[in-house]
Amino acid sequence: MLSKSVIGVLALQGAVDPHRLHIEAAGAEFRAVKTPAQFDEVDAFILPGGESTTMLKLIERFDLWDVLAAQFAAKPVWGVCAGVILMAQTVLSPAQRSFDLLPITVERNGYGRQLESCHVEIEGYKVSFIRAPVIKDAAESVHVRAVHKGDPVWLESGQYMLTTFHPEMSLDFPSPMHRAFLARVEKFYAKKAA
Ligand code: GLN
Repeated sequence: MLSKSVIGVLALQGAVDPHRLHIEAAGAEFRAVKTPAQFDEVDAFILPGGESTTMLKLIERFDLWDVLAAQFAAKPVWGVCAGVILMAQTVLSPAQRSFDLLPITVERNGYGRQLESCHVEIEGYKVSFIRAPVIKDAAESVHVRAVHKGDPVWLESGQYMLTTFHPEMSLDFPSPMHRAFLARVEKFYAKKAA
């Protein structure tokens, strides 16, 4: 792409603003988005961490389900933590509605109460797990990019990327995950133009 990629962070609930400096440092434009007109203007989405049940309620209350499903089918999407839960095919404990963007099964709060939150290094970068989901199952078509304690925590498939952890809380800009997502967005549009 000739111009800067515009990355829309879905701004209904959750950790939206911490993505801004990572996105800008990676050379793209940050937008907090919550209306269909704003969705139309972005090249890709980040579904942030937060509470997936609250996000679902707001999506339904504002009648955004169909418009978001159409956007997600057409553009790159990165789900962070709660965002992973929204993107999964199947959600457990408890089951809830999801956009079914890729063939994975996730268990909400799968690390249990003992490990509600912790910091670890993924590819040498400090990230946070905060009441994270556990990926219980992923089809072979889904590429596992990083594993933590035996569980896949960073996955990629086509135009989609997932991290069950938060890289955006670290203040070393940009995170390798933001960089990787931007590269994915650029590749997606280069392929489309070819
Ligand atoms: N536990 C939250 C959920 O189920 C996700 C937590 C997070 O996004 N940090 O939606």
